[in-house]
Amino acid sequence: PSMAQNGRVTTDFKQSNQAHNSNAFARREEIRQQRESLPIASVKERLIEEVKKHDVLIIVGETGSGKTTQIPQFLFSAGFCREGKSVGITQPRRVAAVTVAKRVAEECGVELGQKVGYSIRFDDRTSGVTRIKYMTDGLLLREALLDPYLSRYSVVIVDEAHERTVHTDVLLGLLKNVQKARLKSKLIIMSASLDARVFSEYFGGARAVHIQGRQHPVDILYTLYPEKDYVDAALVTIFQIHLEERHGDILVFLTGQEEIEAVERLVQERLRQLPESNRKLVTVPIFSSLPSEQQMRVFMPAPDGHRKVSLCCIVVLATNIAETSVTIPGIKFVIDPGFVKARSYDPAKGMESLIIIPTSKAQALQRSGRAGREGPGKCFRLYPESEFEKLEDSTKPEIKRCNLANVILQLKALGVDDIFGFDFIEKPSRAAIVKSLEHLFLLGALTDDCKLSDPVGHQMARLPLDPIYSKALILASQFNCLEEMLITVAMLSVDSVFYAPREKLDESRTAAKCFASPDGDHITLINVYRAAEDLLEKRKWVPHTERNEKIFKAKSEKIFKRWCKENFINGRSVRHARDIHSQIRGHVEQMGLRITSCGDDMLQFRRCLAASFFINAALKQPEGNYRAFGTGQVVQIHPSSVLFQSKVECVVFNEMVQTTNKYIRNVTRIEYMWLTELAPHYYTMQS
Ligand code: ADP
Ligand code: MG
Repeated sequence: PSMAQNGRVTTDFKQSNQAHNSNAFARREEIRQQRESLPIASVKERLIEEVKKHDVLIIVGETGSGKTTQIPQFLFSAGFCREGKSVGITQPRRVAAVTVAKRVAEECGVELGQKVGYSIRFDDRTSGVTRIKYMTDGLLLREALLDPYLSRYSVVIVDEAHERTVHTDVLLGLLKNVQKARLKSKLIIMSASLDARVFSEYFGGARAVHIQGRQHPVDILYTLYPEKDYVDAALVTIFQIHLEERHGDILVFLTGQEEIEAVERLVQERLRQLPESNRKLVTVPIFSSLPSEQQMRVFMPAPDGHRKVSLCCIVVLATNIAETSVTIPGIKFVIDPGFVKARSYDPAKGMESLIIIPTSKAQALQRSGRAGREGPGKCFRLYPESEFEKLEDSTKPEIKRCNLANVILQLKALGVDDIFGFDFIEKPSRAAIVKSLEHLFLLGALTDDCKLSDPVGHQMARLPLDPIYSKALILASQFNCLEEMLITVAMLSVDSVFYAPREKLDESRTAAKCFASPDGDHITLINVYRAAEDLLEKRKWVPHTERNEKIFKAKSEKIFKRWCKENFINGRSVRHARDIHSQIRGHVEQMGLRITSCGDDMLQFRRCLAASFFINAALKQPEGNYRAFGTGQVVQIHPSSVLFQSKVECVVFNEMVQTTNKYIRNVTRIEYMWLTELAPHYYTMQS
């Protein structure tokens, strides 16, 4: 019987292999056709000529015309990657760098990380043979620390320049400085918006070319009255489209992970109340901290059963990443509540916060355009038409509304000492620069004459973290609690570890209590991390065979999933934190910092928090509010904190958010006396 079976197995294998080959062939053919039909395909030769002729070139083209995926391939085939040089393309967002790199690798028929790769903070998929490299703008800025002329790139493409992230602006400034010395190297600035003038003028009248896109008409619908709760309004609209319009995928713009995950849950719940035949609706989330395998889901067709039924519908729940960075095929309906999460910085108060603000007109137009890529579409703006007229024309560049400490630290590390004299495309205010310099000085990163201090300033510049977190790690090695601080920083670098669905608020609060530390949120985060680690690595005590590994991996994954669900913990965030943890650990090891644990001596750890975050300390006021020391702001502890409603006297915190009230988040109890002891330079100055 074994012979017969063998025979059969072989033929089966052959058949499936053939099927595989013909599938692969069909897929290649499909990709070839898609590429050829892109608007950019017809101007390939002209574009290559333009790049050859001009050292700085600005390319403007509508979203989806093929700039990001095609131009690097054009340059590769035109011989720009000879002599080991590469084409480097920056993206403001991690997700964009990853998804586009994967797509381009597939288009080229190569494995990711070979000819085509990506590199983002905490995740590098490149190798010595990589010639087309997608990365975040922040990462290229870091590369400039080691290689100021970016000499490994024959072409640097700054993509999505219209986004005007702070990293893009600084990168353009640096490149403007060194472009003349970058022998035979090219700089291309790509943008979706039609206003290329600002870039062209900045680069001394650089040549700009426009690529014609294709756009189908999009019906814009407004609500009659302002909506009180845009999440709820979005939900109603999703189901209205699902039940009335019958076909076409939906793209909903939300402000962040928390909101996206809440809507995901609410959609599932309402679906369960519909008759079976109406349940063919699949949600796909996309936001920056989503692990990269999951990010790719937006490009996959719906699960088999769904596509075949006429009632099928995919709902993509996205942050403004889907505005211009990633083009998701098949979208016919856009739901735009009209909000975006933005950083905002008040130099007078020295306080940065994340706030939810109305989009600009340009953003609203860009969002609605997403519905008309493949055919006529509809855009539902969840606000009245009169509101649209009140929106700002375009978004303020990030550099005008963020804390500059990080950027200044990097510029200093690059040898740019005169920050006021630096040729920014748009200058941040003098007050903002002064405040950020002061901030760095207080953290010990700068000397009295404003140079990078040795070793602290240099060490801080090397870590890919917010300066205050870098400082915390450096101090922690002296306080013997670097293990705890590594976990803390990793957990603070991801979004919302706990989630609290509105309908199960009490349950989730009870669950969270078993991790809660009376000392505050930082230790609570450590408790969660360690509990998760225990679950995921329990298999240590069984013999290490391949089979055991597999079984226990699957088993612990399953247990982990259940544990997350029972405890209202966001598994995605915890995994991401584990990832970040191992990366930062690598960095601090390389720097030679001593990694030890303070064991149960959490006092030591809290003292270290006080010594690191002393700029963000607050003292309880008689009426129950808190008053932040440095800024004098009156704040409250956020309801999500374990110290909410507690009566502790003095705290340090990591974030301030402003919604209806000013809240502080990630809060730990400290003693006031520690501040004068551990940060005398600040606290004697204050009193
Ligand atoms: P642009 O940069 O001009 O906005 P892109 O080069 O990003 O345009 O996109 C060109 C086309 O490639 C779009 O039609 C888009 O849908 C498609 N595309 C991009 N990334 C992927 C992907 N990961 N999977 C499938 N299609 C993709
Ligand atoms: Mg693009």
